[in-house]
Amino acid sequence: MVSNQDAGHSQNLGLVYRSQWSYNGGMGRKKWNLKDRIFKYVKLDPETGCWNWTGYKDQGYGCIYIDFKRFLVHRVVYELLREDFDPELDQHHDCLNHSCVNPDHIIQLTNSEHQKLHKLLKMRIAA
Ligand SMILES: [Zn+2]
Ligand SMILES: [Zn+2]
Repeated sequence: MVSNQDAGHSQNLGLVYRSQWSYNGGMGRKKWNLKDRIFKYVKLDPETGCWNWTGYKDQGYGCIYIDFKRFLVHRVVYELLREDFDPELDQHHDCLNHSCVNPDHIIQLTNSEHQKLHKLLKMRIAA
C-alpha cells in the first residue's frame, strides 16, 4: 500500500523532482528527464555492482545541480527510487565507494550512528 504520488511527502526536497524522474515527454514536453540526466553519468561496475558517478564530484561525492541548487547524487537517487527515504537521516555508503549512487549500497543511519560507524571504519583501516 505504498503510493508514489503521495502528496504528503512533497516537503522532501528531491521528491519535488520525482515527477520529472521518469517523465518521457509526450505533449508539451519541455523539461529534461531527471533519470536520463543522471544515468548519463552513471557507469555500472559489474564486479561490485556500484553505480559510479562520472560527473562532477566534491570530495569524492557525486553532485548535481537541479534548478541551480546543489544536491548529492546518491541522496537524490535514493530519494527518487526508495519509498523509505528519510531526509532526517544520513545516507551511508555501505560499499564505502563514495562516488557510488546505487541505492542498494546505501544504508540510512542517524547522524550519531553514522559518525560512530565512520570512527570504527577509520580505526579498522588504521589497524
Ligand atoms: Zn556501491
Ligand atoms: Zn558514511
